[in-house]
Amino acid sequence: RAKANGKNCFHFFTPALERIALQRMSLETNLRSALEKNQLELFYQPKVCLRDLPDGMETGHLHSFEALLRWPQANGGFISPESFIHIAEDAGMIGRIGYWILQQACLQAKDWYDQGYSANISINISPRQFLIPNFHYEIIQIIRDMNVPVELISIEITESLLMQDLSHARAVLEYFRENGIFIYLDDFGTGFSSLNYLKNLPVDAIKIDRTFVKDLSSSSADQAIAASIITLGKNLDMLIVAEGIENAEQADFLIRNGCDLAQGYYYGHPVSAEQASLYLHPADRTCERLAKRQRCL
Ligand code: C2E
Ligand code: MG
Ligand code: MG
Ligand code: MG
Repeated sequence: RAKANGKNCFHFFTPALERIALQRMSLETNLRSALEKNQLELFYQPKVCLRDLPDGMETGHLHSFEALLRWPQANGGFISPESFIHIAEDAGMIGRIGYWILQQACLQAKDWYDQGYSANISINISPRQFLIPNFHYEIIQIIRDMNVPVELISIEITESLLMQDLSHARAVLEYFRENGIFIYLDDFGTGFSSLNYLKNLPVDAIKIDRTFVKDLSSSSADQAIAASIITLGKNLDMLIVAEGIENAEQADFLIRNGCDLAQGYYYGHPVSAEQASLYLHPADRTCERLAKRQRCL
């Protein structure tokens, strides 16, 4: 602890900073222990078809799930991943947490598959996780080891991670694509050089960030942006997902403008696996259907 020992001594380490550092340390310790005790949980949020797909999937039906990490607390609440993923990254834990998330998603996908449902689950890859050497080989290996059809798992990446080294990013993503993994570009429009990524990277789907969806019913700027991203994605032969749909007006606009998929509280909150299974549809039976549906063929 920095002490005032004479004049000309500057307090770099103020009590407020110290408190923050301590909070962070205890968060880190608790997170480590939660991971070891298997106390983390994955929730699943549905992505829903906004239009009828040629393989018979109808508007409003489940397309796939996004897995979202939850850290349950003793008081019955959760700590948001937004406030602990970066701590896991800084503490060098993101590799282990990432593999845990993948294994959990694989177990769930397999469980549903064994019951006759093919529900694809997308997992979020953190920027730092993406940079772990050989992490892409590891991911494919885990999916194989767990005997999960590769059509059941997809990944969501953000633009930020790609910035560091575009040729490395392309090599990693090509590897995923060669192995049949469907790739979503998450939070699209919030990073930098988005168009450069779209041109250079093998991405299958774009997720329009929810900041552009939030005021969609009132903001003509957001309407222009959302409609343009949809057109752009279509011309590049990509699937377009809109995030954060909370009301019918937003949904109507997206449907009118040809958006393929929607995700948001209006269609369903992230829920436990048990609750998520209520979204499964009897038609979602085979992987061929699923692979087709993912590309909206
Ligand atoms: P994201 O990948 O963009 O996930 C979407 C976030 O939007 C989720 O927040 C979801 O609960 C929230 N959301 C969904 N629909 C709505 C809506 O209609 N309105 C509003 N206001 N929000 C909605 P969540 O679960 O708190 O996750 C936040 C972020 O944390 C994620 O953003 C992702 O970047 C990260 N994250 C979550 N789970 C994981 C994970 O398993 N691994 C990694 N690496 N990151 C994760
Ligand atoms: Mg995501
Ligand atoms: Mg997102
Ligand atoms: Mg986000």
